[in-house]
Amino acid sequence: MKKKKISILGSTGSIGTQAVEVISKLSEDFEVVSLSAGDNIEKIRQQIQQLAPKNVCVKSQTNAQILQKEFKNINVLYGDFGLEEICADKENEMILVAVSGKVGLKPTLKAIDNGIDIALANKETLVMAGDIVIKRAKEKQVLILPVDSEHSAIHQCIRNREDIKRLIITASGGPFRTKSIDDIKNATVEETLHHPKWNMGKKITIDSATLMNKGLEVIEAHHLFDMDYQNIKVVVHPQSIVHSAVECYDGSVIAQLGFPSMHIPIQYALTYPKRLEGIKTDSFDFAKAARLDFEEPDLEKFPCLNLAYEAGKAGGTYTVCLNAANEEAVFAFLDGKISLWQIYEITRKMIDSHVNIPSPDIETIIEQDKTTREKVKKLINQ
Ligand code: NDP
Ligand code: MG
Repeated sequence: MKKKKISILGSTGSIGTQAVEVISKLSEDFEVVSLSAGDNIEKIRQQIQQLAPKNVCVKSQTNAQILQKEFKNINVLYGDFGLEEICADKENEMILVAVSGKVGLKPTLKAIDNGIDIALANKETLVMAGDIVIKRAKEKQVLILPVDSEHSAIHQCIRNREDIKRLIITASGGPFRTKSIDDIKNATVEETLHHPKWNMGKKITIDSATLMNKGLEVIEAHHLFDMDYQNIKVVVHPQSIVHSAVECYDGSVIAQLGFPSMHIPIQYALTYPKRLEGIKTDSFDFAKAARLDFEEPDLEKFPCLNLAYEAGKAGGTYTVCLNAANEEAVFAFLDGKISLWQIYEITRKMIDSHVNIPSPDIETIIEQDKTTREKVKKLINQ
């Protein structure tokens, strides 16, 4: 059987390493063309030895030179241009975009322009430029398959888009679901990084604690499934068994279930439309799941969720501002410069003072992203 040729951007991250596990398990089905890392040179070394890619990209030129000396038979690239070069390689049948943050946007567009299907973990790409990305993908007849577990669930639940009235996105509620507002305001970095259900990269773990992650996912869902914001509902479901659901016009609700594991949505995106037996998971046992609880999100404790709805509904560059302000504030929180609550306050301030540019092009989006980040840094360091 012909192997599917695939590249992974961000192969050293949480999603990336799990994707490597999936591909290694299905080695008869996949061939790796390119891999990319940021700074984790140790891990990319292991992955080069394990998967023998044709190209590798790392963030810095220095690390690229080190690797090129060690691995003479591969092509070592670096920086944002390196990522774009990987995505311009038409040998790829699919690219998994699993870098974190804004760095995913341009390579994703490059891959789409070259007619390469995308497995998309990097939600920031759609939050920043969903209108452009989805439009170009349609024009090029490129598939955008969601890796985010909620969107993968929704994708799996939809047979005909016309039948779907509402999307119901589940949220675990994060580590502070049952805590008081004061506890949240005084939360340490360590407490915030301790997610009850999912083991993920730092940035998304902080976003999960503020529910900004859910807000970004609402914007992601709006673009992926062409659904109005008022028809996207978030419900807190602490067990993370129901990964999301859709409500049809006839009243039927269809959900996708399973014990929490990112291997499943990653593999679904890579093997779609097939479903293969990959990494073994325990057979689902309703008795073991025992209870499924659902509750409304507490918007007083987690105001970032509404802020994301607000930005999404306003459209234009509001979501660029939201994403950039939040990301910079999260980095500042991780650096111990601000409190968890200030992530909301800073992002709110940026949104309130934002001057919208409707229907921005990519250059405008990148410029807005840059200026917002500069403003946030100035605000934090003053
Ligand atoms: P991680 O932080 O674990 O991994 C990020 C990856 O991107 C690493 O390979 C990192 O390299 C690389 N990277 C970071 N910055 C750069 C840069 N400037 N240039 C090149 N490479 C870079 O993140 P996650 O795997 O958790 O998340 C990745 C994306 O997937 C995010 O957009 C997130 O929102 C989304 N996502 C993640 C989920 C999860 O379960 N983790 C679930 C749903 C969505 P290195 O480590 O080598 O420095
Ligand atoms: Mg998710």
